[in-house]
Amino acid sequence: MSVPDVLAGIRAAEVAAGRGPGSVQLVAVTKGYSAEQIQQSILVHGAFALAENKGQELRDKVPLLPGAQWHFIGAFQRNKVKYLRDVTLIHSLEERWQAEAIAEAAQKWGHAPDVLLQMHNGEAQKHGVSPDDLPQMLRDVRATGLNVRGLMVMAPYDQPEAAAQVFRTTAQWAHELGLPELSMGMSDDYPQAIAAGATLVRVGRRLFT
Ligand SMILES: *Cc1c(COP(=O)(O)O)cnc(C)c1O
Repeated sequence: MSVPDVLAGIRAAEVAAGRGPGSVQLVAVTKGYSAEQIQQSILVHGAFALAENKGQELRDKVPLLPGAQWHFIGAFQRNKVKYLRDVTLIHSLEERWQAEAIAEAAQKWGHAPDVLLQMHNGEAQKHGVSPDDLPQMLRDVRATGLNVRGLMVMAPYDQPEAAAQVFRTTAQWAHELGLPELSMGMSDDYPQAIAAGATLVRVGRRLFT
């Protein structure tokens, strides 16, 4: 697989869902790949947004790929906020203190990333905002001044039906809250995520192998 294959897969899923061309954006997940591999496998095909899930790895790659647009998709602690300066979109905001810390750092940086709220997926996973807390969380994050553009979810692994249900439910919450962006779908399940309304798919392995 490669970027052109995945773009064709995205397009086919858009058509199957009756959605317009370009309604889904590919976010290339580059964790574990070197700057050279990213250049040769991804950026030769276009200026795709790149995503990392570890602060230090992001910090190390930013200067090696000048001009790239960076997203952040991982969990982060307070002492890692400083590594997120060059990020334009954080997909994985899940705690109020994170919003406060990002908003505070943004004052220093002179610019702020937009954010998505990562939803709990109903499995025994520790990450994510619970649905009951979502409306209040949205108000609290907005009160920090950050722009909340949508929701993100990680589907349960190797359970296609449960994953499809998680995607549909997350899309419904975003719709009810008037949030336009939905970050959902990875290498193995991005077609299902697009069927449910994903606007950003986070694909890693399939782009490189
Ligand atoms: C690694 C990762 C992805 C991409 O996973 P692949 O299976 O390599 O496509 C997407 N989202 C998050 C949050 C990740 O950590």
